[in-house]
Amino acid sequence: MAFTLPSLPYATNALEPYIDATTMEIHQGRHHKAYVDNLNKALEGQAALASKPIEQLLREIATVPDGIRQAVINNGGGHANHAMFWEIMAPGAGGEPSGPLADDIKATFTDFATFKAQIKDAGVKRFGSGWAWLVLADGKLKILSSANQDSPYMSGQAPIMGVDVWEHAYYLKYQNKRPDYLDAWWNVVNWKAVAERYAKAKAGKL
Ligand code: MN
Repeated sequence: MAFTLPSLPYATNALEPYIDATTMEIHQGRHHKAYVDNLNKALEGQAALASKPIEQLLREIATVPDGIRQAVINNGGGHANHAMFWEIMAPGAGGEPSGPLADDIKATFTDFATFKAQIKDAGVKRFGSGWAWLVLADGKLKILSSANQDSPYMSGQAPIMGVDVWEHAYYLKYQNKRPDYLDAWWNVVNWKAVAERYAKAKAGKL
């Protein structure tokens, strides 16, 4: 069974003015599509691997044959990362989380402002292309960054939320100003979706 490109849950211009419509069109319609297409290509003739949910395929990356493992890391990671990314953004979103997610962010990172500063720092300091993440690792919230399309699932961590810091995610509107993009991005974070991912992760179901 082939992997399929999920549709955006909102219009491409819905995240304006923080993320422009052209960036969204190219990002989802071309970049994400290419990850899905190339993942399917890499898994041709590998029905057992191709039928696993993407998260499981990445968690079990060690079982993927050497010859196609890097292609699955790049394109399977790219597919999972972007599917998460579209899901945790929404128009008219932003603000602050509530409930257990908010409590645990405060308990782990002192306060919400410090948490945001640490995510931004992880994104700004990621050299080249990659992602900044909030993950659940050994039952605890943790901020980290990853290179390229490397997925936290590959190291046994559950990605609660992540922000794409590849230039294709921001260059049309923000050019080289990655910090400005990261500041603006908070306005489109769908905390309800992030909180749902956190609850699922704690239940071992993400
Ligand atoms: Mn991207």
